[in-house]
Amino acid sequence: MIIVMGSHVTEAEIQGVENKLINLGLTANISRGVERTIIGAVGDERKIHKEALEALPGVENVMRVVKPYKIVAREWHETDKIISIKNIQLGGKTIQIIAGPCSVETQTQMDLSAQHVRNAGCHLMRGGAFKPRTSPYAFQGKGIEGLKMMRQAADKHNLLVVTELMDVRTLDAFLEHKVDIIQIGTRNMQNFDLLKEVGKIHVPVILKRGLSATISEWLMSAEYIAAGGNHNIILCERGVRSFETAYRNMLDVTAIPMLKKETHLPVIVDPSHSGGKAWLVPALSKAAIAAGADGLLVEMHPNPCDAWCDADQALTPDQLTQLMGELRLVAKAVGRDL
Ligand code: PEP
Ligand code: MN
Repeated sequence: MIIVMGSHVTEAEIQGVENKLINLGLTANISRGVERTIIGAVGDERKIHKEALEALPGVENVMRVVKPYKIVAREWHETDKIISIKNIQLGGKTIQIIAGPCSVETQTQMDLSAQHVRNAGCHLMRGGAFKPRTSPYAFQGKGIEGLKMMRQAADKHNLLVVTELMDVRTLDAFLEHKVDIIQIGTRNMQNFDLLKEVGKIHVPVILKRGLSATISEWLMSAEYIAAGGNHNIILCERGVRSFETAYRNMLDVTAIPMLKKETHLPVIVDPSHSGGKAWLVPALSKAAIAAGADGLLVEMHPNPCDAWCDADQALTPDQLTQLMGELRLVAKAVGRDL
């Protein structure tokens, strides 16, 4: 940490900062210039609140020199993290497309979804049994029954199950129904108690970006999970809230290479909740793969017009199959497989 002292700093104020650093278990490296005195704090600065130093008399500015996250930072783990689940790998050369309906509705709908997901060449199926809806009067999901339907449909077609956990109290049911990847949704990106709980298990977690979260806040949330011991984390960019109202959210393509630089964790993209319209999904998907995403989370419904949730953004089974063909070409162009 670098502490810049004000222009009229006194020796007593410099001493005050040094004493504070010593109390915090760090040492001070004082450099007296013509206009400014700079104090370098030597030691593990992650444990220190910047504000505790900013509030001291004579201090003008405090700057961190290391990232506030550690386990998830690429500087601590240079090679890409590859997450293996059964025979599927996420974060390696092969791009994974996770497809399925927004929400689990009926056993028939899930059986059909699984069949179409598999026929399109995907190995992972999505579907929400617990739905975070803006309105309390909207369909809230089938709950535990939905987990059962999803597992049954996925097993028939040899697919992995990806589904959202909203409440710590249902985590045991997720484990009981052998959910392969737990999704932490946008609205829970900073639900720190939930993050701590999924940090204690080893089931891989997809951590979606908060509605207007910065990359740093997002990685700090990932660090919460990692700090508990679960390093199987996949980051999912799903568009951010912006000034634009023509589409649902603004897909932050820049976040993909930025995350790849900052962290070794796999990065996937949800083009469905970004665009909010099925016709936008192919273009956003191709942009994501071209920019380096390791996978996609795409909504597909056997009959989008009948979908109980997010009907407008669901691909038809045929559209998913067609998209897979187009993505294969983009993947090849950037040296990946699909
Ligand atoms: C979802 O993927 O089902 C979902 C609700 O997405 P988000 O959390 O990105 O809004
Ligand atoms: Mn949805």
